[in-house]
Amino acid sequence: PAADSDAAAFGETHITKGIGRLSKHVFEDGKGTWITTDKGVKLLDMTAGIGVCNLGHCHPKVTEAAAKQCGKITHAQVNIGFSATQIELIRNLLPILPHPSLDTLFFWNSGAEAVEAAVKLARAATKKQNIIVMQGSYHGRTAATAALTRSKTIYGEGHGPLMPGVFATSFPFYAHFGLPVETDVEELVRQSLHQVRLTLQQQTAPSDTAAILIEPVIGEGGYVPAPASFLHGLREICDENNLLLICDEVQSGFGRTGTMFAVEESGVRPDVLIFAKGIANGFPLSGIASTNELMSRQKPGSMGGTYAGNAVSCAAASAVIQAFNDENILDNVAKRSDQLVSFLTSLKNDSKYGHLIEDIRGRGLMIGVQFANTPTNAASQNTSAAAASGKKVEQIAPKVVAECLKRDMLLLSTSVFDVLRFIPPLNISEDELSQACAIFKDAFEAAVK
Ligand code: PMP
Repeated sequence: PAADSDAAAFGETHITKGIGRLSKHVFEDGKGTWITTDKGVKLLDMTAGIGVCNLGHCHPKVTEAAAKQCGKITHAQVNIGFSATQIELIRNLLPILPHPSLDTLFFWNSGAEAVEAAVKLARAATKKQNIIVMQGSYHGRTAATAALTRSKTIYGEGHGPLMPGVFATSFPFYAHFGLPVETDVEELVRQSLHQVRLTLQQQTAPSDTAAILIEPVIGEGGYVPAPASFLHGLREICDENNLLLICDEVQSGFGRTGTMFAVEESGVRPDVLIFAKGIANGFPLSGIASTNELMSRQKPGSMGGTYAGNAVSCAAASAVIQAFNDENILDNVAKRSDQLVSFLTSLKNDSKYGHLIEDIRGRGLMIGVQFANTPTNAASQNTSAAAASGKKVEQIAPKVVAECLKRDMLLLSTSVFDVLRFIPPLNISEDELSQACAIFKDAFEAAVK
């Protein structure tokens, strides 16, 4: 199309086909929980840009801090000298990290870069190579992080060979085992920990294994929280075998689950914490935190990057942390989480179609709804098991997403299981969430009737 054609049509032609896109809307403005398109459509955003705009679009204090920084210095290159906003950010981050031993940091732009940095750190610090990851995990789309990702094959398919030395083990999620939703979680934890130990005996020896990498709440793979007992078990296994425990909190961090970091709830100490997304509310920033001792084992020059920890992004991130304090964000997460979960539970219990909802799970405002995905006879079969077995089943989540879109609401689904994810801005109001729930109910009923 000509350059002056409709923006979406132009984008469809000139942007790679290798991207999956929820809608054809062209976003022009964003304020809080709302996005306005080039055609003037006002959308209710239950995606927060995939868990990035945790304080809503264009939070005034974050915008102000970034704008102010643009007038001072935008590129304070970290291989040339120290960046003042980065130092300031570290001062602000240290008190909110999940363990005092995590006192040494470094920054990049994307989540995937930070995951790769964590792997490099683990390898350099332990002088061992292999990484154990969880079935169902998502860590990014680069050649290394695609190798670490086990939520679905599309991220690696046709792009190999990917980074070697990655071994996947069990995560305590009933649907991975082909078991019903009622399965006792502690039994799943026991089985999964047994599999992790077997992985170290049968697949990758402790003497070759650098780390276990886990999302404390699996994101793209279905919104599944890791039970505290599982995280404690992994910590024990790491300690016994001299492995590092790396927590990828790219999606679950920065208040998303009701605490600043999801791992906090378990009390487990990670050796390396990975963060991104919510930290700068839309400005590209990611990072890792670890102990001074581990970080000192890397050779000077082995880390870094042209745009590592951009000055404007760091200023925005400090404003984010300030806003968490000033605006009682975590308090709102707890209230809105209760509101959302009780709405979904009542929909499951009261609605004519409630039997199609198999599971409501998650923490804070990272809530997944898993459908029993064969509309005709969901109640009589374990449909997650059917999905896992590769049988073609008609999924409900994509239909609900499409019906939400018709009603001007953005809502995401997740990987191979039939799951919708609610991941709105953490400062969403009671009224906005009620509107979202009403749209969801209407869309769900339209999708399954
Ligand atoms: N880890 C997790 C847990 C994620 O959710 C994501 C992104 N969805 C990533 C890593 C990769 O982050 P990015 O897309 O910024 O590279």
